[in-house]
Amino acid sequence: SALQQWREWLFGPKQLLWKAARVSALSEHPRAVDGIAGLVGNTPLVRIRSLSELTGCEILAKAEMLNPGGSVKDRVALQIVQEAIAEGRLRPGGLITEGTAGSTGVSLAMVAAAYGCRCRIAMPDDAALEKSQLLSALGAQVQRVRPVSITHPGHFVNVARREAALDPGVSVFADQFENAANFRAHLKTGEEIWQQTGGSLDAFVSGAGTGGTIAGVSHQLKSRNPSVQVVLIDPPGSSLFNKVKRGVLYTRHEAEGKRLKNPFDTITEGIGINRITANFSKAQIDEAFQGTDREAVEMAQFLLRNDGLFVGSSAAMNCVGAVKTAQLLGAGHTIVTVLCDGGQRHLSKFHNPEYLAQYGLAPRHTGKELSFVQ
Ligand code: PMP
Repeated sequence: SALQQWREWLFGPKQLLWKAARVSALSEHPRAVDGIAGLVGNTPLVRIRSLSELTGCEILAKAEMLNPGGSVKDRVALQIVQEAIAEGRLRPGGLITEGTAGSTGVSLAMVAAAYGCRCRIAMPDDAALEKSQLLSALGAQVQRVRPVSITHPGHFVNVARREAALDPGVSVFADQFENAANFRAHLKTGEEIWQQTGGSLDAFVSGAGTGGTIAGVSHQLKSRNPSVQVVLIDPPGSSLFNKVKRGVLYTRHEAEGKRLKNPFDTITEGIGINRITANFSKAQIDEAFQGTDREAVEMAQFLLRNDGLFVGSSAAMNCVGAVKTAQLLGAGHTIVTVLCDGGQRHLSKFHNPEYLAQYGLAPRHTGKELSFVQ
């Protein structure tokens, strides 16, 4: 009867399912978070369609450019500041120092402001002007020093360390390379990856700058499932590939001699290093690949044209590593990597065709193929 049809329409299984789905979709919207700390981390895991189709693997990436400071380093800055506050080493009005020309400075400046602290960043004076301008705009004090080797007391990292030591109890040296808060921040990144994949992943791929990401994530994933493969992708000029594959590392002296001879070993920023940091030493790595600058540039163009993903140089290199890992494992595997930051911070170098052309790396048009994938 008509009444029965109405009942069926209102209360039938299809309607109930539909309503239930709607209620749960509504409740999936997270409630308000408390301040900027609540905006850091819990980034989406994005399936990169083009690379998944090309390789026959599921290529997934943590969209770290969606952190409020625009990079994966927000996680590290937040952890460093929160631990220092919890341990009573840092209080409102206190000072946090770091030596960096990279994203860590931006993240620290932002987090320091959120906790009522001051921030001072030392950087080499050959770093791009827009980097110091951005830090100043964020309220950090910027100290530009002559670029010298890390063994020299005037190196920006040593300057930042000394600054903090001048005023113990008030000032804290963030020390992203050696401070294990960096590693601990990425235990959380690994936890998120585990949850977001439901534990079904075969490999995690990343480059290393401080090593915090690959160490924290590898530790977390392998504690859940030791058979998850952890793969390092290393840019030109870095020694970590040799360390993983052959157990050799340049001495600090040799490494710097090499850098001084050829300061443009790579155009990728934030990854590659010639010493073993405390954070990197915690990484559990199964396999390593070397990526070239040309591959990173081609990857960035490919992701932009095919997926509308605008990423920085280390993110592009991570995707090169994901593809190489897919080729190693074969189709049907799930591979996770990290999009460390977006392309916006790389307009003067990595996303500047004239700059790239100076190094013979002018981007070529790419279609649905990558030259290094058969
Ligand atoms: N990408 C960018 C843009 C970075 O700033 C860094 C950190 N130096 C990395 C990648 C590397 O991450 P990690 O320090 O955790 O090895």
